[in-house]
Amino acid sequence: MAGEPQADCLFCKIAAGEVPATVVRESETTVAFRDINPQAPTHVLVIPKAHYPDAASLSAAEPGIAADVLREAGEVAAGEQVDGNGYRIVFNTGAGAGQTVFHAHAHVLGGRGLQWPPG
Ligand code: IMP
Repeated sequence: MAGEPQADCLFCKIAAGEVPATVVRESETTVAFRDINPQAPTHVLVIPKAHYPDAASLSAAEPGIAADVLREAGEVAAGEQVDGNGYRIVFNTGAGAGQTVFHAHAHVLGGRGLQWPPG
């Protein structure tokens, strides 16, 4: 069923506490944890606890939870004190855009200069 945990999903396991992660924030509907391969001094992933494969399917099915992810991403940036100099919230969507984990997640990147357009 839509939103239910998937047995083969790494981020479902992190949300359930079955795989360790460095959690920086948690809400009723989301978890934020440090990326295992950081691309910036601050690189935190914000995931919904519910399983949706990408941001578009999450926002179509659960717009309130999608808003929670965005709010938490902003809270992460404020907590990491990267909001003053600018930061980036990224949702890679599809393998062609670099998505490798098919459980919706926002990357929060900051703490260094960020180029545009991204690679
Ligand atoms: P994507 O490429 O946009 O799907 O982002 C997936 C991210 O998950 C990558 O930046 C990975 O470094 C990160 N990642 C993969 N496995 C883990 C883990 O076990 N803990 C934390 N981050 C992970």
